[in-house]
Amino acid sequence: MSDAARLARMIASARRIAVFTGAGISTESGIPDFRSPGGVWSRMKPIWFQDFVAREESRREAWRRTFSGAAGWTGAAPNAGHHAVARLWEAGRLLAVITQNVDGLHQASGVPVGDVIELHGAAGYAKCLTCELRHELADLRGPFLEEGEIPACRACGGLVKTATISFGQPMPQEAMEQAQAAALACDLFLVLGSSLVVYPAAGVPTLAKRNGARLIIVNREPTDQDALADLVVAGEIGPVMQAAVPTHGGAASATRD
Ligand code: NAD
Repeated sequence: MSDAARLARMIASARRIAVFTGAGISTESGIPDFRSPGGVWSRMKPIWFQDFVAREESRREAWRRTFSGAAGWTGAAPNAGHHAVARLWEAGRLLAVITQNVDGLHQASGVPVGDVIELHGAAGYAKCLTCELRHELADLRGPFLEEGEIPACRACGGLVKTATISFGQPMPQEAMEQAQAAALACDLFLVLGSSLVVYPAAGVPTLAKRNGARLIIVNREPTDQDALADLVVAGEIGPVMQAAVPTHGGAASATRD
């Protein structure tokens, strides 16, 4: 049996699926990943959280990247991979999407906000680092671009940062707990487009596997956890998942209860 056929069969026979996605699921939407050639890290260095907090120049650079679209992770549309995951939700067999992505494309593809666990936050809005008040990028853009004003909280004056989790920044505890709960409750853990090198997020698939779930990895390059997986499918996520979860009939034909 081919890997594609095994993938379709394992998805079809699973009842409680946790999907774990990384930057690789969004490259077909035109958003570069971090580690592939041409990826974000080949073009610019990450700004560590401690630098953002300590240095005005780092904050200015972070906001320049946000408003110039340099990182490129907002404004794209979901692709066939996201839509295949959304069909699993429609079929009532998706426990949750655990994502390292900050692009909001699972929600845009129709998975309800409450079923998307964002381990690394979201790039589509900003938050005060002191009081956590939400700020919309649209309100911050003009003052930054026209007057060079680095965003500060309108309520408490604290530092405002996009709601992403930067290197060196503490993980959101609630999201980590939700991810671990999904890993322990699923019978299939499906990794789509992650190199599985960024911890603690990359520890979640291991947790699911050790708890008895089947582990599948779909990625175009080998990952750090291939040896642990029940099935590794080497390929492009969009076409692979479109075939495994077809639009009509097949694995996702049941309706959500
Ligand atoms: P990564 O860049 O380390 O790994 C992505 C993996 O996906 C690579 O192994 C690559 O070979 C594979 N890949 C790329 N396109 C693919 C495709 N079309 N089909 C199959 N495989 C494909 O990314 P990561 O594991 O998510 O970890 C790095 C961090 O990147 C995450 O923490 C995340 O926050 C951040 N990030 C997010 C976005 C986004 O929101 N879209 C974009 C870039 C980086």
